[in-house]
Amino acid sequence: MSKRDSRYDILFEPIQIGPVKMKNRFYVAPHADSFGMGKMDEMIAYRKARAEGGWGAVCTGETMIHETSDHAPFVCTRLSSDKFIEPMSRLTGAIHEQGSLAGVELAHVGASCPSWSYRQHPISPSAQFPRLYNNPVSARKMDRKDIAELRHWYKKAAKRAQRAGFDIIYAYCSHDLSILQDFLMQRTNKRTDEYGGVFENRLRLVKEVLSDLKDTVGDTCAIALRFSVEDRQQPSSLNIQEDGRRVVESLAEIPDLWDVNVSDWAWDSGSSRFFEEGAQEPFISFVKQVTNKPVVGVGRFTSPDAMVSQIKRGVLDIIGAARPSIADPFLPNKIDTGKTDDIRECIGCNICTAEVMNNTAIRCTQNPSVGEEHRKGWHPEKVPPAHDESKSILIIGGGPSGLEAALTLGKRGYQVSLVDGGKEWGGRLVRERRMPRLSAWGRVVDYRLELLQVMPNVQMYLDSPLTAEDVEEFEADHVIVATGSAWRSDGTGRSHSDPIPGWDQAHVYSPENILNGEILEGDVVVYDDDYYYMASIIVDKLVSAGLKVTYVTSASIPAPWTINTLEFGHIVKSMNDSGVEIVTDTNISSINEATVRVVRQLTGKESQISAKGVVLVSGQLANDSLYYELQNKQENGLITSLERIGDCISPALIAQSTHDGRLAGMTYGQPDSGQD
Ligand code: ADP
Ligand code: SF4
Repeated sequence: MSKRDSRYDILFEPIQIGPVKMKNRFYVAPHADSFGMGKMDEMIAYRKARAEGGWGAVCTGETMIHETSDHAPFVCTRLSSDKFIEPMSRLTGAIHEQGSLAGVELAHVGASCPSWSYRQHPISPSAQFPRLYNNPVSARKMDRKDIAELRHWYKKAAKRAQRAGFDIIYAYCSHDLSILQDFLMQRTNKRTDEYGGVFENRLRLVKEVLSDLKDTVGDTCAIALRFSVEDRQQPSSLNIQEDGRRVVESLAEIPDLWDVNVSDWAWDSGSSRFFEEGAQEPFISFVKQVTNKPVVGVGRFTSPDAMVSQIKRGVLDIIGAARPSIADPFLPNKIDTGKTDDIRECIGCNICTAEVMNNTAIRCTQNPSVGEEHRKGWHPEKVPPAHDESKSILIIGGGPSGLEAALTLGKRGYQVSLVDGGKEWGGRLVRERRMPRLSAWGRVVDYRLELLQVMPNVQMYLDSPLTAEDVEEFEADHVIVATGSAWRSDGTGRSHSDPIPGWDQAHVYSPENILNGEILEGDVVVYDDDYYYMASIIVDKLVSAGLKVTYVTSASIPAPWTINTLEFGHIVKSMNDSGVEIVTDTNISSINEATVRVVRQLTGKESQISAKGVVLVSGQLANDSLYYELQNKQENGLITSLERIGDCISPALIAQSTHDGRLAGMTYGQPDSGQD
């Protein structure tokens, strides 16, 4: 076994957190997984994989302390009743088995949820509408009795957590999602009693809850405070910027662990398009100067050098991670065994947050095993051996799906040939990683190439476009078609079932043209009927080339799907900052020589926008012709075994492609386990 680099020794030093000791400095920060109590086996398998990968502590996501705290339709873990102790103790048992500490993020989300599932009235320091989503439900103002009850719920939940075996117990005061934060913030706390008004009053409940937790379970459990030191969402109204430091100063030695971040979630889990690794440092670095207690924070840390630097420079004591632990559950072990080149680095795409926002189980672009640890029994690192190592597999297409299939089958020991018609590996990512702010996405390719290139049983051929006849001559035992997709050029998509009149003129472009680096001139209209990232990335590119851009979308807001990836606000700000005119709820009805005719969907009102160039971002079409030719050959007995994966089936997220690649790799030669 290779040895770890001594420069990283500090990451493996144990650290005392209140009454418990963590074996190293790697900490899986609380984060949502959308399994909830209904999918405990999935949740346990998911968290256990992180403990197995060497993280010194593994925490749950928000764990609700009472029925009034309920994110439905989103699901969470709960300790609001004794009946949850047993399932949660199965979780702590699985984490302890691996020598890691188990943390639980006890939470009450206050006015941020309508309690749809438990049918309670939401509670809040002051009467207000719930802030999350558009629910027509008002939160009621808590009276003193309610506040006493809230403290009681916290104590009861903490006792349950202790009985369930948790080592670290949180008070959650973060992300604009917590009743404790609501008490702290002037924006949400309009009380005039001893819990409102001046700073000391707004801080009172947090202080009381922390003391309650210490009194109740502090003998055996560490008490952590998860606290947003700054709210970037609405800094002017929260006044937490100056209060953030005062909070830490006032509570300095009370919690056993400070878990600090920047609010709201779009700032804490900012995508790589808008945030670098370690982006929170300027906001949180003061904390360690104010307290002697250990401090944990996050920053999408994947580089051990950056982690060491955080500790040595006195920014953090413990390296927290949600996304890096999602993308690579074995990150600590890889550093420990000197395999840093094998780290599957998070690309900061936030598909993991998207799946939580959609209340589906967590998933990841880089790590297709996420969420499949229990259902499919997939391990982040291990694969079953080949049923017959002499079997040859031809994979056509070296994009995310083809690369992942080759990696999985290569690891299993098959004879793999990976072929691509292009001059560079990566498929769609060859061009996308060169678009503005998307360079981190290239890690999907780099990670896989690094491993594939040293596998003796994997042969790789670039610049080799294959025909169906070539494939037949190859005589592979199994053929996997991963030929991807291409952007449509005629504007058909969600809003147009037929081509947009005028699409075939020379000044009308598809994303393919822009990805290929074609130069546009003059005023340009970018039409977004796709709703995810591509149109806004093209806008970025055109703006940086000095063009005047009008962004037109059929959606009621720009790039609506990016709400899921927490990028929406940043995209809108970026467009506004660069002078892009944003036109929403509007369709292009026709394209003329120097104008586009548009129609507002809500009113039917028509107008026109001048445009020397038009880019239609509507949808993609699968490159499936080779697959169908091969299917024909298979029917005639000329090809033994055939399947297709990724965008070649139907264009989707890169996360779908890597998952498809893993699925193809895992199922080949295995008995059919049937569909779940
Ligand atoms: P996915 O996301 O499903 O992996 P991509 O579009 O990223 O799909 O990648 C598809 C890859 O397939 C591209 O690199 C493309 O060059 C390659 N490809 C498409 N058709 C052929 C072919 N006939 N022969 C070889 N390579 C091909
Ligand atoms: Fe990182 Fe993207 Fe995976 Fe989330 S989905 S962990 S952001 S690679």
